[in-house]
Amino acid sequence: MEEPDVFMPNAAVERNGGCLCGNIRYRLTGEPRVHYCHCDMCRRATGSAFAVLAWVPVAGLSWLTTEPTYRRSSPIARRSFCQSCGTPLTHAYDANPHEVALHIGSFDEPAELEPRHNYGSSQRLAWVCCGIDLPHHDTEERW
Ligand SMILES: [Zn+2]
Ligand SMILES: [Zn+2]
Repeated sequence: MEEPDVFMPNAAVERNGGCLCGNIRYRLTGEPRVHYCHCDMCRRATGSAFAVLAWVPVAGLSWLTTEPTYRRSSPIARRSFCQSCGTPLTHAYDANPHEVALHIGSFDEPAELEPRHNYGSSQRLAWVCCGIDLPHHDTEERW
């Protein structure tokens, strides 16, 4: 499928999002890089069949309220969540301190953020078929 001609990444675009209970709100400037992640860590961390992650430069993300609670999710990564309602919010690798991923479902307008590829594809559940025609990559992060 071809990219629509009207798709014009715009660094000045602002997007807002937050957790289910509303205690944590954020604003994002810049165009996220969005993909499915089928790895078993994202599966557990979200409690869902896969994650959809929107990677953004750390500099483009501002917390409008209190910051989420951070926890170490593996020897190489940290994830954050809302202390009040438990919504998973971010995921970041220690080795890449300049980028952070937001979970797509936390955006106010997630419909406009379409995934462009699959990640962790060797762990994809066989019945997960959305986005299956997009490019596939295996997880590179190991420890
Ligand atoms: Zn919350
Ligand atoms: Zn993952």
